Amino acid sequence: MVENAEVTQTPSPSNEPSTSANHPLPSTAHAAHPQGHESIFVRPSDLLRPKAASRTTVPTTPPDRPIDRDQRAGLKAIRDFLRIRNCYDVLPLSFRLIELDVGLTVKESLNILVQCGIVSAPLWDSSTSTYAGLLTVNDYLNVVRYYNLHADKLKDVDKLLLSDLKDVEKVLDVKPPETVSASPEAILYDALRQQLVSRARRIPLVSYDSDTQRTMVTSVITQYRILKFIAMNVKETEVLRKPLAMIKLGTYGNIVRCTMDTTVLDVVDEMVLKNISSVPVVTTEGILLNVFEAVDVIGILKTGDYGNLTWTVGKVLSARSPNHPGIYCCSLEDGLDTIFETIKRSRVHRLMIVDDNNYLKGILSLSDILHYLLVEGQEETNPT
Ligand code: ATP
Repeated sequence: MVENAEVTQTPSPSNEPSTSANHPLPSTAHAAHPQGHESIFVRPSDLLRPKAASRTTVPTTPPDRPIDRDQRAGLKAIRDFLRIRNCYDVLPLSFRLIELDVGLTVKESLNILVQCGIVSAPLWDSSTSTYAGLLTVNDYLNVVRYYNLHADKLKDVDKLLLSDLKDVEKVLDVKPPETVSASPEAILYDALRQQLVSRARRIPLVSYDSDTQRTMVTSVITQYRILKFIAMNVKETEVLRKPLAMIKLGTYGNIVRCTMDTTVLDVVDEMVLKNISSVPVVTTEGILLNVFEAVDVIGILKTGDYGNLTWTVGKVLSARSPNHPGIYCCSLEDGLDTIFETIKRSRVHRLMIVDDNNYLKGILSLSDILHYLLVEGQEETNPT
């Protein structure tokens, strides 16, 4: 209708009367003259004329500045490096591996994690002698939600086995954790691309012994370990100077936040529903005070008292160990160069993006950074 109106107001040679025999017309051409006026026929091509505004728009590409070229060179150097390394290279010279049997209770597993100072572990099914997936904080968050919804079952909580966790997931209707794994010899770049597709946050390195026809877990590589490996070995991280604001890296809209008075249960619900591992704690004005992390739940559950989940976020944070490393912040003007410097020096799990007044602007997770390093400027489906 819009095109017809335009045509009838500004007749042009091509709009001149014609016969329907010469030019079969689209029905819309007639619709412009519903009152039976003498029809002004138009050719179909007239209806496809570009609008005046679009005829005058000249497409422009932003100029290629040194900062853009450096950014591309930095990303290329990182990708080239990842293509000549295998997963095994990421592991430190000496490391330990704690594997948990699925026959352990959830309570026992919590004690082991706390005693060993770890937050995830590969699971082993001794009945089949196979790797049985990765136990992570998310499993404990699911347990919390499950008992919150089924308080009548809480009396049996101490009997809940790690092998029962998949039933908990089914009841909650949450997606089962990703079981992606890689061979220690796999090319690091390929393993990371696979991890991106599956959205797994850790890669268990599983090797297959053809003699015994059994699988064996060598270690688990985390996003932090991979980023630190890059930070320590690729000097071109120094040229990734483009500010976060320019590369639009991180999450800025619909940030899940809480206050010091929010209960842990409410925060856990949000973390499970949105599949996130932290929730910034802010004032009513949006000023960042702290960050509640999924791992904080382990500290609460280790007492075995699920009633503690009614604690407020403020109470949990004040009960944190004095050795807690604190939270890491950056600004929209920071580039990945300074962020890699921080990763080199400290065990960063995420960065809060704030302005000069500590007003929360966004969140930069380690998966955001890895995603950018691997796919920026190229099709996600075409990893070459
Ligand atoms: P992990 O921290 O468990 O290793 P990760 O690096 O993927 O995993 P997540 O916290 O799970 O970090 O973040 C997943 C995605 O959700 C990222 O894109 C991140 O920017 C975004 N995100 C993280 N926290 C929040 C939040 N509180 N509100 C909204 N989005 C968030």
